[in-house]
Order: sequence, then structure tokens, then C-alpha cells
Amino acid sequence: MHTKSLKELSRLLQAKQISSTELAKLYLDRIAGSDLNAFIDINADLTLQQAAAADQRLAAGDTTPLTGIPIAHKDIFVTRGWRSTAGSKMLANYVSPFDATVVEQFHAAGMVTLGKLNCDEFAMGSSNENSYFGPVKNPWDKAAVPGGSSGGSAATIAARLAPAATATDTGGSIRQPASFCGVTGIKPTYGRVSRFGMIAFASSLDQGGPMAQSAEDCALLLNAMAGFDPRDSTSLEPGKGGDKEDFGRDLDKSLQGLRIGVPREYFGKGLASDVEQAVRAALAEYEKLGATLVDISLPKTELSIPVYYVIAPAEASSNLSRFDGVRYGHRAKEYKDLGDMYRKSRAEGFGDEVKRRILVGAYVLSHGYYDAYYLQAQKIRRLIAQDFSNAFQQCDVIMGPVAPTVAWDLGDKADDPVANYLADIFTLSTSLAGLPGMSIPCGFGQGEKNGKRPVGLQVIGNYFDEARLLNVAHQYQLATDWHLRKPEGVN
Ligand code: GLN
Repeated sequence: MHTKSLKELSRLLQAKQISSTELAKLYLDRIAGSDLNAFIDINADLTLQQAAAADQRLAAGDTTPLTGIPIAHKDIFVTRGWRSTAGSKMLANYVSPFDATVVEQFHAAGMVTLGKLNCDEFAMGSSNENSYFGPVKNPWDKAAVPGGSSGGSAATIAARLAPAATATDTGGSIRQPASFCGVTGIKPTYGRVSRFGMIAFASSLDQGGPMAQSAEDCALLLNAMAGFDPRDSTSLEPGKGGDKEDFGRDLDKSLQGLRIGVPREYFGKGLASDVEQAVRAALAEYEKLGATLVDISLPKTELSIPVYYVIAPAEASSNLSRFDGVRYGHRAKEYKDLGDMYRKSRAEGFGDEVKRRILVGAYVLSHGYYDAYYLQAQKIRRLIAQDFSNAFQQCDVIMGPVAPTVAWDLGDKADDPVANYLADIFTLSTSLAGLPGMSIPCGFGQGEKNGKRPVGLQVIGNYFDEARLLNVAHQYQLATDWHLRKPEGVN
């Protein structure tokens, strides 16, 4: 049952061959038996209540294609009834009085929440090792990181602990963990998915999206997830990308004549040969499907690292100023006065990486340095977006690796923030430009210790071109079976 697609699960639920309650129990059991540390909070009573309500809807025929299907949420989306921690000690015991729009929408569609997924603290990281709740293990090789920041989401899909999960991507956090865990994930165009109730990291970059086994599943999930939300000031408005649409409408289109841009800068010396091999094999498969490869250039790729690591911390330092121990979140037990209370609460509540970013962010925004760093970064951000619009004159989609290597070992880069930052080279520019991007499983690398480590193919589209990305991914998934492979021991 746990290997079935969302479409199949939906059919079984509608045909009353399984109930939502049975399905929820099956997944709760799988979660309880897992040692991956993928979940931060579960609440079986609440899950089963939601499943019972879904069963009533199914009995009454009041359904959507997602009614009765379980989903787990990255613990960046706030939820009523489950803790909402953002992977931080600061919010370790926080229970939100409201649901994020995304959670609300899935609930309205009849989906059943399985619990909250581990992630890097405030979504800052590339390995899930920055979580206050400890790292998540990669189900393909428990010595490896699952990627980050949505490591819990990716590991959960790979280990079949849930058929669907939410995730967020600020600079790669949907695509990179999806790649490291061999699952499918899509980061939509910035503004497609509401950020209301998504705990903020870098607001001009943060974007929610789904992870699942296949592109077809992701399309179904995105249908429920995307759409205008008046409570998010950067949500795309109706007529401007904010309309409800069927992202699966083009799944079956042929790829004959598709022009795939292959950026030179994504195949340079930093790319591991095993990743390159798997990605090149995927490109060859696309040629068989009727696509043509076009050599393109994204000359500002390298600059995306310094630009992102100025802009994201700048926004983070502002967003995280709200955690002061006054209204909610961690408060120091003993303090002398108000200033001391702020200082101690923040010193105790935030982890090292979060503090590092707050310091960098406050610095680049400060008088005297603003022009040299923040303003400069904003200008280059514009040029990075320009690189993409030039490229899309020559091609329909862009393909390359998601990350320069397969998943690294747990602990390997834990003490080296810059090594983590450098590994984001292929995902940051898409986020800076606000473009949609996907990761789809396309093979395995050599970097194995105790098991295989997956490789993801990145597919980047023009603004609002999610339906095409999903079509391109789906056609590949009809021709290959990488997305159906399971880690050893996952039965
Ligand atoms: N790895 C990047 C960072 O640490 C991206 C994280 C994300 O997309 N949330 O900021």
C-alpha cells in the first residue's frame, strides 16, 4: 500500500477498498518503527480524528482527488494541534493558534496530517544537521545526510513513511534533499504558494512546494497548494499567476521538439564524475524522447553564492528579530533586566548557524556596509535573473545537476559552514531569480558507504511554467524507473 501513487490511493479510497483510517494507521505504524529521526512531532489521536472525518466525506461522496490521503508537513508550516518548532529550541514547545494557509488548504481538500517533519533550524542548512532535534538519517545510507533543509520531508518520502510531504525552498531546500534521497520535489515560481504561516527565513526567497514519489503526485499536490492568498503580501494575484490551475494538464504531452538548455557552468570542475555521468545519461534519455540539447551559458552562476549569503542572512536577521522571548518562544529563566532577558533568551534559543546568519545579516545591513554588500548583492541578483531570461530565448527548460556531489557523510561538513554554502552552487540562482525548479531521481553515485546514494536531475523552468516542468519530469518517469526504486530495508 505504501508504495502506491496518490492516484492509486485515491482510487482505492473512493472505491472503499481501504479507509482513510486504515491508511493513517498503516503510516503511523511505519513512522513509529522508523529510526530516521524524520519526525519532530506526531499526535496519533488528532491524525485519526482527521482520518475519521475524511472517511465521512468519502462516505458522503464529498471528495477531492486528495481526500483521505495522509501528508506530513515540514515543521516550518505552523499547525494547530502539533508543535511548530522550525527545528529550533526557540520554538521547541510552541503550538500555533492557527494553521498555515498551505496546511489549511490540504486539510480542506480532505488530506490527513501525519505529523511534523524535522528540518534545519529555521530552514538554514543543507544537511539537516542544524536541527535542534538532531540530524535526520538518509534512508539510502544511514551514514549519509538526507540533505537540507527539508531533510525530514525527503527521508520520509524515500522511506515511504508518508505518500506526500510539504517542504520549503529558499535556496535549494526542496531540490537538494529530494536529490539526496531519490525523491521528486518541485519548488514553484516565487509567489505561487502562500507564505502565510510558513515560519519566515528570507521572505523574498522562501517558497513552499510538495515532495512525493513522482511528478504526477507532485502535480496533484501543487493543485491544492498553490493559489492567491490575501494574507501573504507577495502572493501572486488572480490574473497574474495566482489563479487555481491544473498543474497536471500537460503531463501526457510529447517531448518532441523540446529544447533543453544545458548550462556550461553546471558541468565545470567542481562537479563529481558520478553525478555528471547520471545527469548526462538522463539528458541522453531526453534526446531519445525527442528533445534537443542546446548549449547555454549562465555566466553569473558563481556569484549566486556570495549574493545569496548576503541577501538571505540580511532578511533572516530582520525576520528573526521577533524571537525575543516576550510573546512566545524560549525565555531565559534568570535575567537582570529587559536587555539581559533579550540577550539571554536569544543566546540560549538559537543554534550556531542561526546566530551566524543574524550576525552576518545585521552587518551587511548596517550603516556604512549596506552599499558595499546588501545593495551590491541586490544588483547582482537582478543580473542573475537576466542570465535566465537570456537563456530562455534559446530553450524551453534548463537541465543540470542539483548538487555537485551525492549526499555526504553525517558529520563531514558539520563544522564547516562555507563547505555547506559552496554545495548550494546549482540551486541558489533559481531561487534568487524566483524561477520554478524540480529535482527528479536519475540514478545513483559511487559515494556509497553502506548503500547507494541517489542523484537528482534539476529541471528549471521559466516563470509560471510548472505544468511544463511536471510534463517533462513525468515523461521521463514513464520511460525510467529511478523514482520507483526503494532503499534497501524499506519494504
Ligand atoms: N542551503 C541553503 C541555506 O542554508 C538553502 C536553505 C533553504 O533553501 N531553506 O540557506
